[in-house]
This record gives sequence, structure tokens and C-alpha cells, in this order.
Amino acid sequence: MIPFLDIKAQYQSIKGEIDAAVLGVLASGQYVLGDEVAHFEQEFAEYCNVKHAIAVNTGTSALHLALLAAGVGPGDEVITVPFTFVATVSAICYTGARPVFVDVEPVTLTMDPAEVEAKITPRTKAIVPVHLYGQMADMDAIKAIAERHGIPVIEDACQAHGAQYKGHRAGSMGLSGCFSFYPGKNLGACGEGGMVVTNDDDQAKTMRMLRDWGQEQRYHHLLKGFNYRMDAIQGAILRVKLRHLEAWTEARRTHARRYSSLLAGSTVLTTPVEAADRRHVYHVYAVRSRDRDGLQRLLSAEGIPSGLHYPIPVHLQKAHADLGYQAGDFPVSEAAAREVLSLPIYPEMPVRHVDQVVAALEYAYVS
Ligand SMILES: *Cc1c(COP(=O)(O)O)cnc(C)c1O
Repeated sequence: MIPFLDIKAQYQSIKGEIDAAVLGVLASGQYVLGDEVAHFEQEFAEYCNVKHAIAVNTGTSALHLALLAAGVGPGDEVITVPFTFVATVSAICYTGARPVFVDVEPVTLTMDPAEVEAKITPRTKAIVPVHLYGQMADMDAIKAIAERHGIPVIEDACQAHGAQYKGHRAGSMGLSGCFSFYPGKNLGACGEGGMVVTNDDDQAKTMRMLRDWGQEQRYHHLLKGFNYRMDAIQGAILRVKLRHLEAWTEARRTHARRYSSLLAGSTVLTTPVEAADRRHVYHVYAVRSRDRDGLQRLLSAEGIPSGLHYPIPVHLQKAHADLGYQAGDFPVSEAAAREVLSLPIYPEMPVRHVDQVVAALEYAYVS
């Protein structure tokens, strides 16, 4: 049996370090924020090559705070993509702003910069590209448009820890960048977690207050805040895991290269493309096929799990029907939703499992 991902394998590989970190927190009596979280913030900021990192309880909270600090509120519009996890759009709705969608590029499945300018109105207060599957969106092109209109860019980097664009780390190119440490993400807590990074001192100060009831000093509430604080145990675990992230990322990239070279030349599916000057961190390894459902059945018959990221674009989700979009509005996203299939990938994945997945696909399809 081949797992889609095996989080326990990662724990087993660094069990001594994790257990010591958790026991240290239990003994410290400092269970929320505190020294472990502060150190993790510093280390993650260094990793992203930014000035500030603000630890929070989820990636969704990170997006919410980044939008609020950028001044997004009721009556505003925020441009993003419909081909993403629903949280990107939910965070925009939390602020009272209206999500305005633009389609994705057919090759990278990230925000198509050519679509952005036509959607900008006087109410547009932010642009939120999503670094889907672990590959950064075309940030230079998106930033050029944003700067022309004086609109901030907030990166949804929840799938893209350590990804790069022309040498710049994910999260470091926008006004702020948002990360998730949900267990299955490339850097995952043993529970929930998130982070916002920024080079802007004022944004950082505002987000630090907002995550902790809007206070700078205890019981002096300057802003209407939230309880979005990170647990100390998660901070301690994430500090340990951050030290291994580069090696894990390289392992993902090695698996992805093997999949792509073995599947090259298939007549039935195409493999993901790493765009020039980008470092893809393969949170998801998604192939594309007109016969996606057939491929999924074939794998499943061989006991191989696969995933769909994502089968329904957000503009066609019932929860967001009030936005008034219809089928046909975003043809590239809609085709991707029908055609993408995510294959098992995680750093500890045995190479023979990669070969078994390929063999199962080859059996019927690869010519
Ligand atoms: C996981 C994810 C989120 C939300 O992160 P949580 O930690 O689950 O709240 C947001 N956007 C994208 C693209 C994600 O993959």
C-alpha cells in the first residue's frame, strides 16, 4: 500500500528532537507565544529573507491579518484567483471586502497577469496571487501592474515554503506573505499554525497587535483584535522542523524530477512545468489529463491513492454563489479543475513507490 503522504514517517525520522522540544515547552509553563514562538519568528524571517515574521494560529488567520493591515475592509475589492483552496477567498470575505476573480495561466496554473489590469477599479485594495502547488506566481508582472495603480500585493504562500522567483523567497516579494503550517504542508506543525512575513515595520506592528486582541500593552486595546496567537508547542516543533526543511524540499524536488522524466512523452498526461527562474517546492505534484478520472480509477485499482487539487474552482462553489459568477467565466481554471490529478509525494517517500506509481500509469497509458 502506497500512502499519499506519511506524516508519521517524518515524525519518526526526527522523533528525538521533536520530543525534547515538546517536553521543554511542557516544563516551561509558557504555553502560548513566548520564547519558542519568538525564536521561530526570527528563524522563519531569516529563512524567507524578510525583516519581520508574525506567528499566528492558521494560514487563514495569516491572510486575514495581512488583508486587514493593508487596510482592506467592507466595500473594497480584492483581486485573486478561483483556482485555489477556498481559504484564500474566505479570508477576503472575513474583511467584508468582495473577492474579484481573474483566471490562471494554463501552464503554471497561477494568476495570469494579463487578466489583472482589466479588473482593477477605484475600490481595488489588494491583489492576492496564490503560489499554487509550491510554485510562485509571475510576481514581476503582477507587481508591475500593482505598483502602477498603487495597490499592495499579498502573497498566499501557504503551499510555497522555500519556493523562489528569480532568487527571491516566497513571501518576500509582496507587501506581506502568508504561510500555513497545517500538518500536511511542506512545513507542518503537529496541529494548526500560520505566519505572516513582511519587510514593512508598520504592517508588522499592526499585525502583531491584531493577533493578540489589538493590544500593544496588556489591557490597552488600540485595535479591534483577534485571538490568533500561535501555541508554544507548535512554535517549538516548527523550529525543529525548519532546520530540516531545505533537505525535505530537495527530496520533494528529486521525486518530482523522477516522476517527470519517467512520465515524459506520455500521450495521455502532461507533467507539471517548473517555469524559468522559479524554484518549485512541489507541495503538490499534479499531472494533467483529459482522462483524469480514468487515470484516477486505474491508480485506485492498484491501491494507489491520488488527490484532486481542486475539483471545483471557488467561483462555482455554492458558498460563494452570491458573487454572481457562472460556469464558463474562468475557462482555464475550469479546465484545470477537470484535468488535474495529484500523485503521492512527500520527502520520505521511498523511490520505489515513485516507480510503482509510474508503472501503474504506464500499464495503460504511457506510450
Ligand atoms: C492551506 C491553505 C490555506 C489555509 O491555511 P490553513 O492553515 O489551513 O488555515 C490558504 N491558502 C492556501 C492556498 C492553502 O493551501
